[in-house]
Amino acid sequence: MELAQAQEIIIEMAAAGVSGISFTAGEPFIYFQDLLELVALCSRLKMYTRIVTNSYWAKSPEQALEHVLSLKQFGLCQLRLSYSRWHQQHVSRENVLNAARACKVAGISYFVSFVTDFSNEDDSYEQFLRDNILMFFPEPVIYAGRAESFGRDAIFTDYQDNRCAMNPYLTPDLTMYACCDAGSHFKTTDFFKLGSLKNESIKQLFEKSESCQLFNAIRSLGITTIASFAGFKARDIVTYRKCELCRQLFDSPEMLKKLKIAAEGELQQWTR
Ligand code: SF4
Repeated sequence: MELAQAQEIIIEMAAAGVSGISFTAGEPFIYFQDLLELVALCSRLKMYTRIVTNSYWAKSPEQALEHVLSLKQFGLCQLRLSYSRWHQQHVSRENVLNAARACKVAGISYFVSFVTDFSNEDDSYEQFLRDNILMFFPEPVIYAGRAESFGRDAIFTDYQDNRCAMNPYLTPDLTMYACCDAGSHFKTTDFFKLGSLKNESIKQLFEKSESCQLFNAIRSLGITTIASFAGFKARDIVTYRKCELCRQLFDSPEMLKKLKIAAEGELQQWTR
């Protein structure tokens, strides 16, 4: 995507009421000069900005500080530093440390997104963050895209609502999805695909997201409640991770058809 086009989209998003943007996957720092321009534009438009990065650019404390000070000058609000035993196969964990420390010096908000499958293989990775007093949050690995092939243990979660905020996600080819991350991997039904900015305006795509009763049920009732309505046994529901349960419900054409009809009435009345 060209810089001018990205700028136009951001202006259109601001006009549509978007108050924050996260620049994310692949690696936004590859286009660092463009990124600075976009952050500056968002800042002028009073939009909150976050960049998600793997810190490959923070090879030394000096390089890290140079980048972070530029971002601060252009108005960045927050850096989110991806970190995991998979990320760190390609990027030294010292880079993450350099980036986080540079944020502290520059006065930019940051946190380390510690992607984990909660196995004891991750203990030393977590300890590294604790030893260096870094702000971090564990993020469950989402088994979609490249992570689809990762081995995984069976789980038993709590019986929780699993409501989902569903932040829209715009890809470089201008396709917009109603939810971030896993939503672009529903290959059978493309349930979360809203359309393309090549054919429709941002307002039209947002309206599709906000007027879809089933999306609203995900936001308000939660995926667990929808699964219960759909007939999933409680003891099965607790064996799914959130996005996997979502896929069970919405990447099957038959189930999706049934739920779309129910979302117009019956599902809205479903309480426990
Ligand atoms: S739970 Fe469903 S809606 Fe939420 S992020 Fe996962 S796939 Fe998207």
